[in-house]
Amino acid sequence: MKIKLLLLCMILSVAALSFGQDANSAAARQDLSALNTQHEPPMLGIHWARGFNPFARPAAKGNNPNMTYHGGVIMPSVVSEAIYWGPSWSNSTFVGDKITGLDSWYTGFNNSNYAKTSDEYTGSNGQVGPSVTHNGHIIDTSTAANGSSTSAIVAEVCRKITNPVTNGYYPVYVDLKRGNAGYCAYHSFGSCSGVTVQVAFFFNLDGDAGCDPADTSGKHSQGLAALANVSGHELSEARTDPDSPGAWYDKRGQENGDKCAWTFNVPLVTFSNSTQWKIQGEWSNNAYNTGTGYPNSSGQAGCLDGH
Ligand SMILES: [Zn+2]
Repeated sequence: MKIKLLLLCMILSVAALSFGQDANSAAARQDLSALNTQHEPPMLGIHWARGFNPFARPAAKGNNPNMTYHGGVIMPSVVSEAIYWGPSWSNSTFVGDKITGLDSWYTGFNNSNYAKTSDEYTGSNGQVGPSVTHNGHIIDTSTAANGSSTSAIVAEVCRKITNPVTNGYYPVYVDLKRGNAGYCAYHSFGSCSGVTVQVAFFFNLDGDAGCDPADTSGKHSQGLAALANVSGHELSEARTDPDSPGAWYDKRGQENGDKCAWTFNVPLVTFSNSTQWKIQGEWSNNAYNTGTGYPNSSGQAGCLDGH
């Protein structure tokens, strides 16, 4: 019985690999966990570095690029708490404006017009709403995991968040550079003592041109500006497509952040606490249908930034 299960598992793994880039399969989701043998929570909504997306294919002409609903839940509201992981987070030069800046970013995301760009989407448990209650941050100066294992990120969240909540979103910012990894960040999900939580993983993006929005406003350090941009991508995706079986993504498995990655409508978007950020837009089916969005990198005008 065990052998049969193992064999089935291997067949499914091979199938996932074979159809990993198939346009009309759920396996088209950007799930790199299919590429290793561990059964880990999937990496969802991976924010690929500029010019690097192994799953991307040009959309066929005439095909509707909109996202469709896949039956799962969404996040009607969010409670966020950030974790800064790694010994460098005790180094004030490394930290700079990152921690205070990201606390301000999450606080200002709450009820912002930027947050409201995701509010058209509904799921089995209601509708996405713009409320984000930010509970600040936790610093863990132990050696960080490099993100290649999603379960290691979930385990860190379960270790550090003492009171996880079902609408919890726990972004983990590590002090490690991405090296050869083709992505800047991703989101995923897991369970802490039976409570399903949303997690996200972010590399240290200091000096990383492939993950840099090139904010020239002078309002933030380069490293903070880069984390802020990818944070908008991941939080928007977690709200609209939090966990299995998934809610909103398109036929290529792309979520609302993916579809507008690395396109910026205005130099700075203003959040509800008046902080300003150079930040990508998020895909809106409604904006695409009504011709009120700005174009993504494929020229499809469905991106909104709420500016
Ligand atoms: Zn993404």
